[in-house]
Amino acid sequence: MNEELTWGETEFSWSLSRDHLFSFCPRAYFYHYYGAAGGFEFGSGTELLYRLKKLQKLELWLTALCTAVLRGFFYENPENFNFRLAARRNFRRGMRSVSLREWRADPQQLNLFELYYGLEEINALTERGAQLLNTWIDQLIESGLTDYLGKIPYLERKTFSFPAAAYVGKIKTWLAPAVIWQEDGRLKFLTLNNGRTDPVRLHHAAALHKIYAFNKLRIAPERVVTLNFDLTCGETTGISAAAVNVSELIAYVKASAAGMLAAATGRDTVSEADFPRSPGNCPECRFRKYCETATENVENG
Ligand code: SF4
Repeated sequence: MNEELTWGETEFSWSLSRDHLFSFCPRAYFYHYYGAAGGFEFGSGTELLYRLKKLQKLELWLTALCTAVLRGFFYENPENFNFRLAARRNFRRGMRSVSLREWRADPQQLNLFELYYGLEEINALTERGAQLLNTWIDQLIESGLTDYLGKIPYLERKTFSFPAAAYVGKIKTWLAPAVIWQEDGRLKFLTLNNGRTDPVRLHHAAALHKIYAFNKLRIAPERVVTLNFDLTCGETTGISAAAVNVSELIAYVKASAAGMLAAATGRDTVSEADFPRSPGNCPECRFRKYCETATENVENG
């Protein structure tokens, strides 16, 4: 049985997105996982940090939206499901919430990075989002993927709690496939991406799928297949079993987790100063509104 790795009272868990944020900027990682970890409370010092933590970029939100709609189609109502309607309904609900700024009262509501930082105005952003979503949904349908998935017998569809967790040694690790099913004696994982995902990350995700399949279902790694659907071009690509190196992924997760924990352990409190800034990434960073002020305060004593 796995004994969970903890820091203080908090369980440490690893994910590809956590690893990505630590590489992007250790200070942003600190804000996300420590500065805003206590949740949201009006008037608390972490209110702004928590809001910034919840900011999403348009394309990432739309990718998550397509993934959620595909999951609903696959697991809940395959007979009468109208893919386009479901996607557009979710999109309209999200954009309405953004335009009403519902995130001010409830930070769990959608808040878009481009709007928050004044990079695009609401009408232009809504139009761009609607066009992107239409294109991506067309790709999902016209590629034949939804037809194909709709024909998978219901009993072959593997439900899982989302996000799913697997253990790499003692490290709890999160993974987020869109859907999982059994076919031709293999367990197949499908992920959606928006064409910007780093290929190394796709290989790491495929290795995590093999670990999850073995951890949870005792399915041998050679019987696990990962398929990636690119929403921007409508192509599904498989990663060959030979190209997925589970041992390499295990070593990577351990080294990555050790780097994160080394910055956070060995003292009573986690200190912002121990997480260096990456100034080159500030224009793309959710936390810049907080970080600029915090840095000025430090510099002005
Ligand atoms: S604003 Fe820049 S330095 Fe600050 S957390 Fe973001 S990327 Fe790091």
